Amino acid sequence: MPEAPRLVLATHNAGKLRELRELLRGQVPGLDVDTQVIDAAAAGAPDVVESGVTFEENALLKAEQTAQATGLIAVADDSGLAVDVLGGAPGIFSARWAGRHGDDAANLELLLAQLSDIPAGRRGAAFVCAAALAVPGDPAGQRTERGELRGSLLTAPRGTGGFGYDPILVPEGLDRSCAELAPDEKNAISHRGIAFRALLPHLIDALS
Ligand code: IMP
Repeated sequence: MPEAPRLVLATHNAGKLRELRELLRGQVPGLDVDTQVIDAAAAGAPDVVESGVTFEENALLKAEQTAQATGLIAVADDSGLAVDVLGGAPGIFSARWAGRHGDDAANLELLLAQLSDIPAGRRGAAFVCAAALAVPGDPAGQRTERGELRGSLLTAPRGTGGFGYDPILVPEGLDRSCAELAPDEKNAISHRGIAFRALLPHLIDALS
């Protein structure tokens, strides 16, 4: 008989679910990450309106509402690109910067056009991620953790890996864009990896 789910990740992104499973594998005695860690669709959780104005607020909204709807411990993340010269924009609007949610190519093209006069050396930016944990019926069990990956923005895309703004961000200390890094290389330094690793002890506590 399949094991009952114990943890839901409030996302429809299969890549994020895979990453969370790998992070948790072998960490919680008795937890089968392949069957007991599921995503929002598998849990029958409704979509959450991201009405917050910070990454943390949006991540918590998603985690709390998903925990409430499913009765399961829930984890969520919210992420984006914060550009120094734009005062932190696109920020929470990163996925819909050019108007249509999730149009990565249009978002990237618009941002490059907006920054076309900004010289190298003044093109600093960071990928930011807030990861949130919510435990049903236990407001004290809520947590958020933040991760950042700082770098500078290219004037034209480079590389074919990754997604979103990966082809234009070169992490500090590297000479390749995020789209030119192997997935493991990016996970080791990424905003999402940092935030989820910081959340992990709290998640292990909640599941134990
Ligand atoms: P979400 O947190 O999955 O909603 O991502 C928000 C948006 O931020 C994405 O659509 C991307 O445009 C951007 N973004 C977040 N994380 C990354 C990343 O690791 N690489 C490139 N773009 C990212």
